[in-house]
Amino acid sequence: MLEEFIKDRYQRPIISLRITLTNRCNVNCLYCHHDGMITSKEEMTADELYTICKIAKSIGVKKIRLSGGEPLIRKDIVEVIDKIASLDFDDISMTTNGILLEKYAEDLKNAGLDRVNVSLDTLNRETYEYITKKDYLESAKAGILKAVEVGLYPVKINMVIMKDINQNEIKEMFKFCKENNMVLQLIELIESENCDDDKFSADYHYKLDMVEEKLSEMADDVRERKLMQGRKKYYIDGGEIEIVRPVDNTNFCAKCSRLRITPDGKIKPCLLRNDNLVELISHVRSGESEEKLKEIFIKGINEREPFNS
Ligand code: SAM
Repeated sequence: MLEEFIKDRYQRPIISLRITLTNRCNVNCLYCHHDGMITSKEEMTADELYTICKIAKSIGVKKIRLSGGEPLIRKDIVEVIDKIASLDFDDISMTTNGILLEKYAEDLKNAGLDRVNVSLDTLNRETYEYITKKDYLESAKAGILKAVEVGLYPVKINMVIMKDINQNEIKEMFKFCKENNMVLQLIELIESENCDDDKFSADYHYKLDMVEEKLSEMADDVRERKLMQGRKKYYIDGGEIEIVRPVDNTNFCAKCSRLRITPDGKIKPCLLRNDNLVELISHVRSGESEEKLKEIFIKGINEREPFNS
């Protein structure tokens, strides 16, 4: 089945394109790694995003994931989805903090968005404010429930676990997810150069080993995701919990099937590197032919290199 995908020089199929729509955000999470992006103020228009996705589709990319920054901060977000959805990908998803989702969920669904991952680390108002520096918990919850209501299925909740901040809230969050037919993703905190506090990772890092052990004991069934670094999924009492842990570079790279696009329109071949970006948007803006744009995409794919240290 993987034969139909375009592959890089290391025979890794390129299945999905992850586009960072903006670096702007309406919260300021204390741990945010900004998806490994270098800060830039530039953004692409809906038409430019359409062209990029069209080329991606033509070389065999099947899935699109939109992220940020906060993607819903873009006023043209429905138009962006509408344009991308007209290209008929297998799956279009978005990672959002949910704060503006109540307003947009229905229009996004109608425009062709398939599903959302919503970041929510806590159901406690003070803790939410401590993590995000904003008092938007109720808006985020309303957005999440609206996403479920309109069928952006499955809604997944991304919960980054931090020692002495929210590690004791997993049970409560799982209950919230189960009650609303959502999947809970527990994310192990990754050290981030962008964090203000150098000591942050050491102070708040919470290894998910113990949690996984407990989930194994409780689970009715456990499955592994083949294309997602062997992530484990635990099925418990009709609910579902997935564990997202940083894997060593060798493993991460070996299973990587994604290409990324930065907000200012560069192809980012590798998550962990910024020294092999490939300029794309200037070629789109100067009206280069689709053939030429395809060549640039393939150049980006050929820059992909496992980072084995
Ligand atoms: N604004 C959107 C949101 O909040 O989902 C999208 C951008 S955010 C950078 C994407 C995801 O990265 C979120 O689920 C967030 O929790 C996760 N994330 C950010 N920094 C992280 C870190 N240091 N460790 C683990 N996950 C992190």
